[in-house]
Amino acid sequence: MAKRLVSEGGQVIGVDNLATGRKDRLAELAPNPHFSYLDLDVTDAGIVNHPALQDVREIYHLASAASPRFYQADPFGTIAVNTTGTHNMLKLALKTGAKLLFSSTSEAYGDPLVHPQREDYRGNVNTWGPRACYDEAKRLGEVYCYEYWRRHALRVKVARIFNTYSAGLRTDDGRVISNFVTQALEERNITVYGDGSQTRSFCYVTDTVSGLRLMMEKDEANGEIINIGNDREYTILQTAELVKRLTGSSSAITFHPLPADDPVRRRPSIEKAARLLGWKPSVSLEEGLRRTIEAYRNGTPPE
Ligand code: UDP
Repeated sequence: MAKRLVSEGGQVIGVDNLATGRKDRLAELAPNPHFSYLDLDVTDAGIVNHPALQDVREIYHLASAASPRFYQADPFGTIAVNTTGTHNMLKLALKTGAKLLFSSTSEAYGDPLVHPQREDYRGNVNTWGPRACYDEAKRLGEVYCYEYWRRHALRVKVARIFNTYSAGLRTDDGRVISNFVTQALEERNITVYGDGSQTRSFCYVTDTVSGLRLMMEKDEANGEIINIGNDREYTILQTAELVKRLTGSSSAITFHPLPADDPVRRRPSIEKAARLLGWKPSVSLEEGLRRTIEAYRNGTPPE
């Protein structure tokens, strides 16, 4: 996102406490005079009055771990960044008059019983399980956004982001694309959880960023929740086989216990994004995986 904004001529302040991010990922942007970085935590109340942030025009609140491995390792941090952190960002938006985009999640639908998931589907979340700290915190973050939109007419937009990937994912991120691609490239076993019949719909990062940019630009997105994702659904086993074929790997595909509450099927309806934003994704899973594999393999900067 920062790279896209800078390439469009924007002045960008990246705020990150490096809970899951890494400073070396800033190498490309660091020398750019249109980019600066602040090591701050959005849950810290002082951020609202930080002198460097008083002229912001647009806030992309993308903070929070998103990988089950990381958000479950720090459940209270996950809850805080999406609730208190969201509230602080809304206060900053109110103070500065900025627009705000909150990155919510397909996990707001939990293990959905309705397919594809439209934004008016209220979901099926287990409050008493390992994914609840993420799902419920994101849902409460949406509530904070709703109240600021309703009470203060703040220009708030909520993006429910579905599985997004590129080689920008850490190799130890734990999510399926980074796991499968790095396993295949290292000729290790490709670890499918369960029987691999569960599905996901994978969106390449450049498409996701385009969707988020349009949400920020368009007044039609104010006070709206919009799914941002690719609506082509794959089983996890199909994904493993595709990664194996595209890498030319001789890795074996092995089967392991399914984590608790792992959603069985997930696919967004992106009709609302098409209608309000004129957006739809353009990168197929095969093309996105080719770019991901190449960047991981050659150590070139990810998109
Ligand atoms: N998964 C898998 N092997 C892995 C990592 C994940 O089979 O090495 C499965 C996981 O059980 C889930 C799907 O891939 O069904 C997507 O998992 P991920 O952690 O990427 O994200 P989620 O969509 O579950 O938050």
